Amino acid sequence: MYKLVISILFTIICTIQLSGQITSNWFSFKEIEKNVWVIDDHKAVNVYLIIGKDSSLIVDTGIGSADLHSLISKLTDKPLIVVNTHGHSDHAGGNYQFAQVFVHPQDSLNARICNLSENRLGAAKNMLRGESPSKEDMFSGTPIHTKLVPVHEGHLFNLGGRMIQVIETPGHTPGSICLLDMKNKLLFSGDNNNTLVWLFLKGCSPLHDYLKTLEKLGQRIKEFDTLFPGHGIPKPAGFVNDQILCVKSILNGTCESVEYKSFAGDAMMCTFGLASVAYNPDNL
Ligand SMILES: [Zn+2]
Repeated sequence: MYKLVISILFTIICTIQLSGQITSNWFSFKEIEKNVWVIDDHKAVNVYLIIGKDSSLIVDTGIGSADLHSLISKLTDKPLIVVNTHGHSDHAGGNYQFAQVFVHPQDSLNARICNLSENRLGAAKNMLRGESPSKEDMFSGTPIHTKLVPVHEGHLFNLGGRMIQVIETPGHTPGSICLLDMKNKLLFSGDNNNTLVWLFLKGCSPLHDYLKTLEKLGQRIKEFDTLFPGHGIPKPAGFVNDQILCVKSILNGTCESVEYKSFAGDAMMCTFGLASVAYNPDNL
């Protein structure tokens, strides 16, 4: 009993100290699973931090307007492994703050291009409603010419007591990947499993390829309980089944699709259950 009280007091003191030390006007962040943090890049995109015994893995680097590196270094003191789920500017835009980033080779060119300063400004304009961080939230270091390291299906990141496996998931981009925390059954899924998945952008794979990706995840659905998407809140694994039926209904012509408009262009949108897909009818 005595030990339990001491342990609880210690936890409370640590929590107070932690929350007292770390603040950000730009990012909001919370521990959503034990040693897993979600970092919300100004209500635009989710960055995740997975902490192992020996090292920590960052899933995506956000838009890159603010100083992500500084925040991460306050949340973990372990050596960092940085991985992009894909090469879009809202997921790889902060790569310039890190010396080395793992990315699938099919998305590495985009990951490089979106880090050019003019492109980062463009992404911020679209994603952040014109808002920019205050001087103290901005990255004050020198932008790094990041080394991009290719990563493929089955690659394992060993964080110490925590293995993270790469699953190739082409669709939203040809080089999209998901990251499976095998022991804890968590799937970090980039833009592959958002409530609304964009499949209409220039460079998206044909919808048939995306269906193969979803069916591949469907076959492995017992390996994960929760999906952690690049945008929005976590979802149960069964969400993948809604996505499969959604895409199948587009491809077999039974979906009553509606028009969809966005800053990135116009498309058609189909919804099944909780899942929606915006797609290009000329890229099925
Ligand atoms: Zn994307």
